[in-house]
Amino acid sequence: MAKAARSAKNLTAQTTARLRQSGLRPTRQRVELAGLLFDDCDRHVTAESLHDEITKAGVKVSLATVYNTLHQFTQAGLLRQVIVDAARSYFDTNTGDHQHFFLEKEGMLIDIPGEAISVAGVPNPPPGLTVDRVDVVVRVKRA
Ligand SMILES: [Zn+2]
Repeated sequence: MAKAARSAKNLTAQTTARLRQSGLRPTRQRVELAGLLFDDCDRHVTAESLHDEITKAGVKVSLATVYNTLHQFTQAGLLRQVIVDAARSYFDTNTGDHQHFFLEKEGMLIDIPGEAISVAGVPNPPPGLTVDRVDVVVRVKRA
């Protein structure tokens, strides 16, 4: 077997194992999408950008399926959803502690390492509630 084919096969096996560990049945579409999302370094995608990417890779998947799969991956803890505004939601393959700069015009998120930012003065939540997480999106523009 050629080296490239062997490594692609290994990646598929890894992806399948990763989905199973997260409690997701490794359907063909999930494996294809997870392959695009997790084979590379950390990335921020939207349902639309990932749909474009998988379509260009020659795989036929509807935008609704991409959208649903991203939410399933998020529920399973494989992705973190970053809601920038009501109309725009990004999915982050880095689920670790970090925040974001958001370049509005380009629609681009840039990571801020978790230790580089501190949030002070978060008020006590109403009785019976605890703060689960604080998401910070710092909106930036080119000077
Ligand atoms: Zn990020």
